[in-house]
Amino acid sequence: MNRRRVIFLGPPGSGKGTQARKIAEKSSLLPISSGETLRREIREQSEVGRLAANFVESGLLVPDDIITGVMIAGIKKLPSGTGFILDGFPRTVPQADALQGGLAAMSMSIDAVVDFELDDAEIVKRIVNRRVCTKCEEPYNLESRPPKVAGVCDICGGALTQRVDDREDVIMTRLGAYRAQTAPLVAHFARQGLLCSVRANRPAHEVEADILAILESPTSK
Ligand SMILES: [Zn+2]
Repeated sequence: MNRRRVIFLGPPGSGKGTQARKIAEKSSLLPISSGETLRREIREQSEVGRLAANFVESGLLVPDDIITGVMIAGIKKLPSGTGFILDGFPRTVPQADALQGGLAAMSMSIDAVVDFELDDAEIVKRIVNRRVCTKCEEPYNLESRPPKVAGVCDICGGALTQRVDDREDVIMTRLGAYRAQTAPLVAHFARQGLLCSVRANRPAHEVEADILAILESPTSK
């Protein structure tokens, strides 16, 4: 891989989390999810983890500098020279600036930003079809991965349900917030020549092949 420090950017339902795991299996890059890293730093009570815990426990949004500190701490824990895929971070331009500043201080830089393009109508269609088993939490999708018997889990026979977060009105609110927040971020990375767009409304293996081609392409630096 020529591009080894990578950000995956995409709306909820774009498949970027799944792709981050798939690409990691086929490369030496490690996926770093913002949610998992935050939970780990809090659990391990690291300096930045304790700072973040104050906000999480009061139900407040973790400020940009602290969440960036958490992610930098996660990156520092990787064996020297390990490439990574950031998933779910940065979400704002200040976070991106802080991340890139922190990496520069370690003589590192971001090599590519993969932007998962998917229009709102397609996202809504994907998410409203999500179902999950109430017993074993196995995920289903009425269109792409339906259960053998309607409403029943293939694995454990439990009843399938729709998460409250997956209702159309909730999705539209989340998408609006996402678009407002990330539009400036997309422009920020485009200005730096790092933005690589992938059309995400295709079968997963085609999206994956496009991402691998991006990671194997030479860097401009
Ligand atoms: Zn089940």
